[in-house]
Amino acid sequence: MKTMTMTMMLVAVTAMGQSDGPQPPHVASPGTKAPSDAVVLFDGKDMSGWAKEDGSPAGCKVEKGEMVCASGVGDIVSKELFTDAQIHVEFNIPLMSAQKGQMRGNSGVYLHSCYEVQILDSYENPTYANGSCGAVYGFAPPLVNASRRPGEWQSYDIIFRAPQCDGTGGMSQAGSVTILHNGVLVQDGTKLDKKGPGCTKASVCGPGPLRLQDHSGFPNAPHTVMKFRNIWLRKLSGK
Ligand code: MG
Repeated sequence: MKTMTMTMMLVAVTAMGQSDGPQPPHVASPGTKAPSDAVVLFDGKDMSGWAKEDGSPAGCKVEKGEMVCASGVGDIVSKELFTDAQIHVEFNIPLMSAQKGQMRGNSGVYLHSCYEVQILDSYENPTYANGSCGAVYGFAPPLVNASRRPGEWQSYDIIFRAPQCDGTGGMSQAGSVTILHNGVLVQDGTKLDKKGPGCTKASVCGPGPLRLQDHSGFPNAPHTVMKFRNIWLRKLSGK
């Protein structure tokens, strides 16, 4: 009976379609560093991978291996452009206990300089749900609130599938985004079926940059000092 069962299992496995296709390429992922096939956007040394939107030098400082962006430096964009990508960003939001809601530590990671993955101190700081940390701003609130206390390092791991455009630049197929916040799933294939708050006509379908928000341009926004570190992306679909 036992022999019969093994034979049946082997037949079943073969029938399920084993393949002799090519082996997947090896990607080394050494500890907290970027994977071996990643494009490193910030490794703690300098701001050479970034600029202001007008192309002038980014105003953020590098201190102790961290990117320090104070109010007034303006949004910064990566020089690297991408279409579909896996993106890793670590961020540290300051404690601003005198403030509430959107006026607490507020930044954002714009995909293609277009769709804002909200960065906000959402630790015991309620605001409208689709503007809280882990939200795709204006699209979807996070599935859960995975925020750590302000002052603690946090991370985003983002799988971004860009919308596709037709020959006239109109969106022919929606994009999507899946996000882990501090390792916790907060967006699960959220559909991007319209322009995001930062979109320009040219950036909807990409390729486009990563943009980090300086919230000081918003009305009554208080002074904020955001920190970032260990920012990288892996291009998917070879583009
Ligand atoms: Mg923001």
